[in-house]
Amino acid sequence: MDKPAICGGTPIRDTKLFYGHQYIDEADIQAVVDVLKSDFLTCGPKIDELENKLCQITGAKYAVVCSNGTAALHIACQAAGIGAGDEVITTPITFAASANCALYCGARPVFADINEETYNIDPDQVKNLTNERTKAVVAVDFTGQSVELDALLAHCRENHLVLIEDGAHVIGTRYNGKYNGSIADMTTLSFHPVKTVTGGEGGAVLTNSEEYYQKLLLYRTHGITKDPQQMEHEPDGPWYYEQTALGMNYRMTDMQAALVITQLDKLPMFSKRRKEIVKAYNEAFSKLPQIIVQKEIPESDTTRHLYILRLDLSQLKIDRKQFFEALYAENICCNVHYIPTYYFPYYEKLGYKRGICPKAEKLYEEIISLPLYYAMTDEDVQDVIDAVTRIAEYYRAD
Ligand SMILES: *Cc1c(COP(=O)(O)O)cnc(C)c1O
Repeated sequence: MDKPAICGGTPIRDTKLFYGHQYIDEADIQAVVDVLKSDFLTCGPKIDELENKLCQITGAKYAVVCSNGTAALHIACQAAGIGAGDEVITTPITFAASANCALYCGARPVFADINEETYNIDPDQVKNLTNERTKAVVAVDFTGQSVELDALLAHCRENHLVLIEDGAHVIGTRYNGKYNGSIADMTTLSFHPVKTVTGGEGGAVLTNSEEYYQKLLLYRTHGITKDPQQMEHEPDGPWYYEQTALGMNYRMTDMQAALVITQLDKLPMFSKRRKEIVKAYNEAFSKLPQIIVQKEIPESDTTRHLYILRLDLSQLKIDRKQFFEALYAENICCNVHYIPTYYFPYYEKLGYKRGICPKAEKLYEEIISLPLYYAMTDEDVQDVIDAVTRIAEYYRAD
């Protein structure tokens, strides 16, 4: 193969390929326009329709949709009763929201290290960090591969902890044949445009518990209820409602809900294509000693949200940053997921030190997120494979 573009070769492609992109069709556009012409822009019929659809797809008993995935994590933590003095165990290899939700409630996030092959939170590390202050575990299905739900649930039951699954990447994935969302105490989703299914913005919490469901509804909408059975005073009249808790306004609009509904109609198609792309990447990269392919656990039938290219730096003359820049020069515009949460200055000021999760920190030095989205053509996929192969071979360690 010829020289990489970064050393003066011709770029593999002339147009830029990004790591993620939404796919919007005419049905999506029409659904949003129809809402704009209707009587309800928010709190209308599309909210119930979406919640029912999410239950139908995942098998969860209840769904509460809300403004985004971060809001979903916040109300899930509130419903779990997390408060000052509590500890919440999570992974550092995630978006900041997975730990921030504990801070919103006055609790302290505790970071458990990952399994070095799957990159998901290691249930044994969760066990080691559990103490009398531990209240919940926020487990992230990183890249869309399910966390080890059997082990985590068993531990949580034994120690009376709430298992919140941050499923921002997980839509479409099944664990032991059941959709994620129907297994943990609560599972949160995100409908941000880079995720598998989008509403522009949007989120949801799925649960099988009636008790959590009622609390989620309350916290989503100011802590206000219109249900006389939940009121503390006698209603003054038909207009009456009561605020019984301190909630937020985390409502989703009907425009967003309508978009998520038509997007969900395409989920089987999205899943199929993402699986094809992951298969092509895995086949190509498993032949390169410079690349480590993410381990797949047999329990998880995974719809991948992210594809992580992990470099074996002992087999390369360059580091991750140089590899990343070389990919950019080929017009493959990658990203890195994620910077360990406790590296951020905000967390440093709270007293978190580097070194607490060595496997996560090592992973961070070696990873690049490759383009992965429904609308990628076979040629796009081949360009990514060619670019990675060209760089990996050119900079192969002697
Ligand atoms: C995207 C994401 C979130 C936050 O979702 P938003 O809808 O952007 O608020 C939380 N956790 C993980 C792992 C995510 O990828």
